Amino acid sequence: MINLLVLKENKDNEKRVALVPDEVKKYADLGLKVTIENNAGINSGFSNEDYKKQNAVISSSIKSSIKNSDIVLMVQKPDPKIINQMKNGAIILGLLSPKKNLHENKIYNKKKISAFALENIPRITRAQDKDILSSQSNLAGYKAVLDAAYEYSKSFPMMMTAAGTVTPAKVLVLGAGVAGLQAIATAKRLGAVVSAYDVRLASKEEVESLGAKFIVFDEEVLKKSQTEGGYAKEMSAEYKKKQEQALEKAIPENDIIICTALIPNKPAPRLITKKIIEKMKSESVIVDLAVESGGNAELSEVDKVINHKNIKIIGYSNYPSRIPGDASTLFSKNVFNFIKILIDNETKKLNLNLEDEIISKTLVSHQGKLMNL
Ligand code: NAD
Repeated sequence: MINLLVLKENKDNEKRVALVPDEVKKYADLGLKVTIENNAGINSGFSNEDYKKQNAVISSSIKSSIKNSDIVLMVQKPDPKIINQMKNGAIILGLLSPKKNLHENKIYNKKKISAFALENIPRITRAQDKDILSSQSNLAGYKAVLDAAYEYSKSFPMMMTAAGTVTPAKVLVLGAGVAGLQAIATAKRLGAVVSAYDVRLASKEEVESLGAKFIVFDEEVLKKSQTEGGYAKEMSAEYKKKQEQALEKAIPENDIIICTALIPNKPAPRLITKKIIEKMKSESVIVDLAVESGGNAELSEVDKVINHKNIKIIGYSNYPSRIPGDASTLFSKNVFNFIKILIDNETKKLNLNLEDEIISKTLVSHQGKLMNL
């Protein structure tokens, strides 16, 4: 029988858990025994009792559970001490950030651990049900708008009351990928007047289908700004100048700016300078989801809400963890769909088919070799 262990997260700002009680039965049906570290789900609203009701075992000795597990599952990467306690040749899955965590990579390699960095699951159609980046970004986009509404001193919808009319908030979403599109949809549902900007022209149709206005000032350039993988390219200095001028006009016309613009493996594009912030209306709110990659807004700081001349700039890190219940549920579903392809249907044994790109592109370390770094 394959032993799967779910660890409690070790970072203060990580409230998610990698497996929610409702998903436990699916593993049992696949022939796995599920063990949960004591209180692993508590910060996302799932108690030990909830897991026990689904026939999961709560570990009574975490050290021996780690040692006896074939698969160790976490949202983020574990401490090196834990990796060192793992069985040689076992499997670990999580958002391992392998480009940053070189020391951990060495331990996986030394112990011949098969380490899967789940953020590297290729974004191909067949992998959509395993796409953790999408499921988590979607919730981040939603929560960012709620945070903006919380900090904003006025209302989002227009209200016509006997006392007078309240005007609707104007929301501009920068970056219309997965998080941005959900931010647009959420702001629309709250009654705001919404517009969006992206350097990928492909996103124009998606933005407009949500009933928002797409800001475009150089359509010809945007036709070539998307990589084959569907991501944004870094723009030329000339384009960036035009972009700054256009945003300098558009941003101060809005009350709320939701920043979600990212370029893979590069610092986040700087879209809101201090000069632009100082032109914004008093009480405006910026949420910078890109803060951990350097930020789209000049003054945003990680895990802080800055008040600059009456403009609030929110820079919370790890946005999906701010909505841990649903983020954990979707994370669990993605992970189960991934683990399923590591197990042979008939023999119910682990079988890592390296010819499957979903498997081979996600591996960081396997049988004493480091890969995809
Ligand atoms: P992301 O998080 O890398 O970036 C967010 C957005 O920022 C992107 O839309 C990007 O174009 C935009 N951006 C970059 N530079 C900008 C700038 N200077 N100004 C304004 N916007 C800027 O992207 P994502 O949300 O992960 O999605 C990227 C792409 O992947 C999209 O095309 C999406 O549809 C696609 N995708 C495909 C699949 C799949 O096929 N399975 C799944 C998810 C996403």
